[in-house]
Amino acid sequence: MALIVQKYGGTSVGDIDRIRNVAQRIKARRDAGDSIVVVVSARSGVTNRLIKDAQQLHQQPDPRELDMLLAVGEQETIALTAIALHGLGVPAVSRTGPQAGILTSKVHTRARIIDIDGGDIPQQLEAGRVVIVAGFQGLNKDSSMDHGEITTLGRGGSDLTAIALAAALKAERCQICTDVDGVYTTDPRIVPKAHKIQEISYDEMLELASDGSKVMQARAVEFAKNHNVLFEVCSSFSTEPGTIVKKETPEMERIVVRGVAVDKNQVKVVVSNLPDQAGTAAKIFNALAEASVNVDMIVQNMGQEGHANLTFTVPINDSNLAKETIKGQLASMNGGEVRIADPVAKLSVVGVGMKSHSGVAAKLFTALADANINIQLISTSEIKISVIIDVESADDACRAVHAAFELERG
Ligand code: ADP
Ligand code: ASP
Ligand code: MG
Repeated sequence: MALIVQKYGGTSVGDIDRIRNVAQRIKARRDAGDSIVVVVSARSGVTNRLIKDAQQLHQQPDPRELDMLLAVGEQETIALTAIALHGLGVPAVSRTGPQAGILTSKVHTRARIIDIDGGDIPQQLEAGRVVIVAGFQGLNKDSSMDHGEITTLGRGGSDLTAIALAAALKAERCQICTDVDGVYTTDPRIVPKAHKIQEISYDEMLELASDGSKVMQARAVEFAKNHNVLFEVCSSFSTEPGTIVKKETPEMERIVVRGVAVDKNQVKVVVSNLPDQAGTAAKIFNALAEASVNVDMIVQNMGQEGHANLTFTVPINDSNLAKETIKGQLASMNGGEVRIADPVAKLSVVGVGMKSHSGVAAKLFTALADANINIQLISTSEIKISVIIDVESADDACRAVHAAFELERG
């Protein structure tokens, strides 16, 4: 008898029929003799709708209240899924994140998991019940509140709940069930010819996820890597094998580019007229780190007449926070102005094979040049090259680059 953790995302539990489908899949596994812990997301659109509701009432809703609100989405699904299982005659019980003992840091809306004690999950499994856990939420106990505060784990955070539970419960298998049947060479919605990847390393998956491939939450992949949790991304609607995400193996280096990611939710932040002296960048980026702003590509221009300019990208949702944080910091420095420039897109090619193959950058730049797409910023790491381009060209760029690296062939 194996212990399996399965996670079902928003689309997979989007309506009553889909919840019934999920319940039937769980029943089939249980009938085959497995013990199952299921993590579910809010039904598709619910989290976005709740955020919109809050924003109609306040431009920048209080993060604590936002967590209180957003946690509702997942809570609705756990109960409905448990009820659906009862309807099929399967004993099942739902647990919120706090009830499952998911303890987190206190950064509301993007808390980190610190520990999972599992609550009474082992006893429930022992008693033959399926346990349905609310994804995306946890509990912070540092606050003055006796029973702690509810927190959420960042968008897409149900993936993290599933991976962390699989690690804590020492599950034999962890499956992330979603509306695609695996991880593709790029988003199949942009390139229908994209190819399903059989196996991918944690580092490649991490780069793809951090660079805009929505299929997995980046933090969840990071957690899986740190705790060596092998997991599978597969379809909620079929039993076909999906994509295995695991530790890098030597054969993986034979593929130069594993995939292409596109992130259309970035903006450029320009900080100009900064005093060109030691410590300036440190002050700006320390302030941003303290405000938990995710800073990405950074370029500092050569100083002119004692002044320097810094340009970097941040997620669109962080742009106001970034601007206000920098304004606050500049007030205590000798000059400088901050401006949020136009939205941009980041396109990244990723592959562990880049470590041992050359010419990837040249091929990428040529593909973009042939498609007449201008590159604004470039950054590289051992297994990735990213470029910042115009948002309007992002899909064309993705198609051109995917074709140039012949990824549709698999
Ligand atoms: P869930 O609601 O199950 O968490 P998500 O919407 O978060 O699902 O992620 C699945 C979506 O990710 C797919 O529908 C697909 O459009 C998108 N996606 C982006 N990049 C990729 C990729 N490389 N491979 C597969 N899907 C991708
Ligand atoms: N419901 C949350 C979100 O939409 C978490 C998740 O779906 O994983 O981001
Ligand atoms: Mg998701």
